[in-house]
Amino acid sequence: MEKRFVYADNAATTQVSQSVLNAMLPMFTEGFGNASSIYKLGMDAAKTVLASRERVANALGAKVNEIYFTAGGSESDNWAIKGAAENGAKKGKKHIITTAVEHHAVLHTCEYLEKHGFEVTYLPVDEYGRVTAEQVANAIREDTCLVTIMFANNEIGTIMPIKEIGAVCHEKKVIFHTDAVQAVGHVNINVKEMNIDMLSLSGHKLHAPKGVGALYIRTGITLPNLIAGGAQERGKRAGTENVPGIVGLAQAITDACKDIDEKNAKLSAKRDRLIEGILKIPQTRLNGHPTQRLAGNANISIRGVEGESMLLMLDLNGICASSGSACTSGSLDPSHVLLAIGLPHEIAHGSLRLSFDEDVTDEDIDYILDVVPNVVARLRAMSPLWERICKTENLNPDGTPKE
Ligand SMILES: *Cc1c(COP(=O)(O)O)cnc(C)c1O
Repeated sequence: MEKRFVYADNAATTQVSQSVLNAMLPMFTEGFGNASSIYKLGMDAAKTVLASRERVANALGAKVNEIYFTAGGSESDNWAIKGAAENGAKKGKKHIITTAVEHHAVLHTCEYLEKHGFEVTYLPVDEYGRVTAEQVANAIREDTCLVTIMFANNEIGTIMPIKEIGAVCHEKKVIFHTDAVQAVGHVNINVKEMNIDMLSLSGHKLHAPKGVGALYIRTGITLPNLIAGGAQERGKRAGTENVPGIVGLAQAITDACKDIDEKNAKLSAKRDRLIEGILKIPQTRLNGHPTQRLAGNANISIRGVEGESMLLMLDLNGICASSGSACTSGSLDPSHVLLAIGLPHEIAHGSLRLSFDEDVTDEDIDYILDVVPNVVARLRAMSPLWERICKTENLNPDGTPKE
């Protein structure tokens, strides 16, 4: 098959779309005013920021005053969690509930708070990476000030029962934050119907540029100011607005939230064909929930291969992908998410994440299905680990059981 370039790492970042770029470009040139200035150029910028805030609010079912622009998902997560913790501490509430599978922006923030006198409950997940509302209900205490649980997992694509978790939090009067960076634009979200008090999102995961995001904060919650300075973002997050980024985010979220169900139906059909095809390789397994998962996410463990080697060989074949193993994360431990769903280290190390946007073609899928089995066969052929597995489990070199 002819070599192609296939970008299959949209969970890491996405390309800025043409529609987003078109919306942004004038803001660098004619529309460059400071939104705080009083002359027309500045007021026009302020109007553009307001219109963008409305578009983001509409996409989430929020009110315009409930949207705060930030520099991305990590910043939104930090602000929501540290802010709710600071508010809680004032009332003597220093307990936080989260899950074992959160993004590091959440986990490392929780670890920071643990060093500063907070207690954090890390809820375990089931084999698919889900927690239940009942687990959350049982973990809530008198001194719980925050529940923070991601909407959809960035590695295995599993979608959490957010609405039910939110209902439990509201019943017990605990603030509920969700890191929805992977979900916004890919899952229908209405913060009111889903009982969400705070929600983090990021531009570069939905075809807007890097370095812009937002935090939804429900009316009635007053977080401490994040950045002291000017009056931007209603005095809570100072700094001259990133107008091009904000315009890009608003365009991206509007585009992404159009016809989500239709787009997902097409995308998940392609993804399922891909998963089915890769699972034909013996000694592989799907990670994450079979149906409650992001339409563009496939995560598969392949025994007897090292994730890093697989990525390098896929790269040589023009395929950009990701893995849950060592070096990519800068540590020697395999992904905390794959360990949390119960995978042994050896299997977690050989995991492959392919994440698509709706532009992926059938030809792209065919190409991946052509390349991956060859790459796996070559890596297994030189792997002492695979040789040992075959010997101890009485398998043929291709992984099928010996008769
Ligand atoms: C990418 C990501 C983040 C971080 O967002 P940035 O905008 O890169 O800071 C946080 N949470 C999840 C689930 C993500 O996928």
